[in-house]
Order: sequence, then C-alpha cells, then structure tokens
Amino acid sequence: MNRREFMGSIAALAALTGCQSGATGLAFGKRRKRWYKGNLHTHTLWSDGNAFPEEAVAWYKSRGYNFLGLSDHNMFQDDPDSWVAALEDGEAAFKPEWAKKPTRRYIFTAKRRYFDDYLTAFPEAMTRTGASGRLEARLSTFDELSARFNSPGEFLLLPDVEATRKVVYSDGREHQLHMNYVNLPLLLPSYSAPEYRRVVRDVPICRFLGDHAKETAELARAMDRPHLFILNHPIWSWYDVGPEAIVENPSVRFFEVCNNGSPFKSAEGLPSDGFDTDRIWDVANAFRMRRGQPLLYGIGTDDTHNFRGEPCEMLMPGNAWSLVRAESLDVASIISAMAAGDFVTCEGLEPDDVSFDSSAGTLTVSAPAGLSVRTVRFIVTKRDFAEAPVRKVSVRPERHKDAMTYQREISVYDEKIGMVAKSVRFRPGEPVRASYTLADDDLYVRARIEECGTTLCRAPLHPQGVRVAWTQPYANAHC
Ligand SMILES: [Zn+2]
Ligand SMILES: [Zn+2]
Repeated sequence: MNRREFMGSIAALAALTGCQSGATGLAFGKRRKRWYKGNLHTHTLWSDGNAFPEEAVAWYKSRGYNFLGLSDHNMFQDDPDSWVAALEDGEAAFKPEWAKKPTRRYIFTAKRRYFDDYLTAFPEAMTRTGASGRLEARLSTFDELSARFNSPGEFLLLPDVEATRKVVYSDGREHQLHMNYVNLPLLLPSYSAPEYRRVVRDVPICRFLGDHAKETAELARAMDRPHLFILNHPIWSWYDVGPEAIVENPSVRFFEVCNNGSPFKSAEGLPSDGFDTDRIWDVANAFRMRRGQPLLYGIGTDDTHNFRGEPCEMLMPGNAWSLVRAESLDVASIISAMAAGDFVTCEGLEPDDVSFDSSAGTLTVSAPAGLSVRTVRFIVTKRDFAEAPVRKVSVRPERHKDAMTYQREISVYDEKIGMVAKSVRFRPGEPVRASYTLADDDLYVRARIEECGTTLCRAPLHPQGVRVAWTQPYANAHC
C-alpha cells in the first residue's frame, strides 16, 4: 500500500461512525463466544511510529480489527500537552524545548507532509505555531482516542505500553529487552525513577525479565486490574532473549511467536536446528510442563512503526494478529480468554475453528480451503526429553559492523522437544480439517496450519514464503 492508498483509507474512515466487524460467531459451550481480531503492538508518533494516533487507530478499525493496543515505547499516552513539530523537507530533526520534559522520550518531530495528510483527514486536530515558528500538532490521548473510536461490540482500544531497555555487558555484548504490558494505563514506576536514565549493566536477562514481570504484576494487583505481560520479539535484535530466561520466569505467560516489525541483523552462523521463535516456544514449554508450571502462549503482532511505506514498503501493518475467542469485547473478557489460551495467532491465515477435547486429548483444527497446498503440522514434546543441551554454539554476525555487540551463545536442545508428530496435506480447494490425539508420552500438542504462497511478513527469521496460523499448546492432562 502506498501513501495515497493509506490516505484514502484514513480519509474514508475519518467520517465513519462504525465499522464492519471481523469477528465471527461460534457456538462454544453453553455461551456463545466470538472470535475477535486484534493487534497488541503498535507505535505512533507518541514514540517512533510514523502515524498520528488517530491515523493508526483508523487504519486498524477500518480493516475490521476489533481491538488494538497502542504500545508506544516507555510511554502511556496520557499527557494532554504533548506535541509534534513539523519538519520541512531536508530539515534535520531537533528537540524543541517543550520536549525536554521527562514524559517525552522519543521523537518530537515529523515530516511536514505527514501533517498535511493528518490535517486533511482530521481537520479538527489541535495545532499551533511553536516558538520556532514551526507548525505543531497536539497528540491525542488514550482517553480521547477511546472516546472517539470505541464502539460497543465492534472496536476497543486497550491501554498498552512497550517497556524498552537495553542491557550492556562488560564483554561488549548488548541485549535488548522489550515487554508489553496491557491494561495498566501508566508508565512503570521504575521507569519514572531517576535510575531509569542510567545504563543498565551486567544484569542477567533472566533476572531483568523477572524484575519487570514482578513489577507489572504488583502494579496490576495494586490497581486491581487484569493485565497481560508479553515478552516481545525475543530474537530481536539478535537472539537477545533465549528460552532459558523464559523457563526461569514462569510468571511470563505470553511471548511474540510472530512479530512483523522486527528486522533482524542476519542469520549468519546461526544453528538452523536451534534458532527461531517456534523453537524457543517448545523449549520453554518442555521445561515448564516437566516442572508443573503454566504453559507459555504465543501471540502475533505487527509491531507497527511504518504506516506510510517510508522509508520502504517492508513491514507495513496488517500481517500478524491474534484471534481471541471471548464472550464479549471488553478488557476483562479478552484478557481472561487469552490467559486461558483460547486464541489463535495468525500471519495471513485464519482457521475456522480450533477445539481441544481434554478428556480424549484430541486437538482438532479446521480452516477454509486454500488456493495453494495447506499443511497442518501437529507439534509435540516427548515426556523423556533430555534437559541438557545437545550442544552450545557461540555465534555472532561477523559481517555486521558491531559483531561483538551481538556475540551470543545458543543452546541447541534435544530433538524430542518440538517434534512434528503428524503432518497432513490438503490440496488447493480442499477444506482443511485435521486432528491429533496426544500419545501417553506427549507432554503437550500444538498445531501450525501453513499455506505456501505470498510471503506477508518479510522480517528475517519469521516464516518466509508461507502463511501461518498457530494454535496455542494444549497440555496432556495425564502428565
Ligand atoms: Zn520492541
Ligand atoms: Zn515495538
């Protein structure tokens, strides 16, 4: 989609009072549940996205999404005195005086043509001439956006923040740790403390992750609000969070198995059998099941930064999302359905239905017929897997100018973790329906539905050349 198409879709939506729902009805148990489509990872000009918040929300609402989290970096959109200044072509970014207040931490300027687009679609937006003589526009807050766009049963904005930190190690490595927390409408207290400004040094990622999960959970308890805590893009920017950190933090219940917005350095030197988000997922759940801990669930997000195809057409939104089967479109229902694992993660492909018969241990998935071959793979981990890594591999992207920053040690685990236990192919035009019944020695099962075809997500190390839908893992009740 180019800029003109983007503008067209936003302009059409600006006058819209409702939208077509992407949710589908489904009888489930005694109460009728529906699938709700949502993206919980989006950036706007509140941090480093390239759309004003109304444009971002309009983009998703006009395409039938039912819920959306605007997860700006280290920022909740609550300060009504937040502004963006216009930059003329060729003018370098700068930091206006008003942007030095601690609530603003990212960018404070945007291209003049972004303002033109925005003010055409939303002419009532508040603007002023700043001290430097530049046009400035005020950023709408979460409350203002909710009042404008929420519509019962159709669309809901959720409070969302991406807590973002970097840890620097004395051997030259750097690891990024990014985590979204949903439904807590404020910045974590530790991010407001003076220590926040200091570089984080030599803290093990596993402890740093645990500290964030704990702080978020305590905040949710104190505020008496349900919440989600999500480990984002563990393999950005270069295998920064391994499964071991997730195993050590059983309170982390969600991670991004698919993130559409995280271009990756390279796959140079990485072990193909030990390295992708599916692999991380299975290693984490193998250990969790053995230890009697709750399963880790995988979500899909756009991590949208680029609404305008600038600087390139890669990583545009609309490629990865979650379908949540909930009783109604409200925060509590969406969060409790996700906490129960009743959702599907989609990268361009959606199932019709997913069901798990816990007494028989049978997982059944169905999907519409595809234009290309569709394959359902059932993935399990065997009860007697070996915990010790098969081997450890030291890697770094040698051709990258900061190779030392990205040196990593990766553990490759037993093949009994994340095995394909059954694979079923469906010809083009043939409806997809497949089942797998847990064997006694399976710890859990999950399914991946795949279709060869156009690659939607072009972020390196995400599934290439296939569309994918991931179910959540379902535990063997006998284990
Ligand atoms: Zn991130
Ligand atoms: Zn992000």
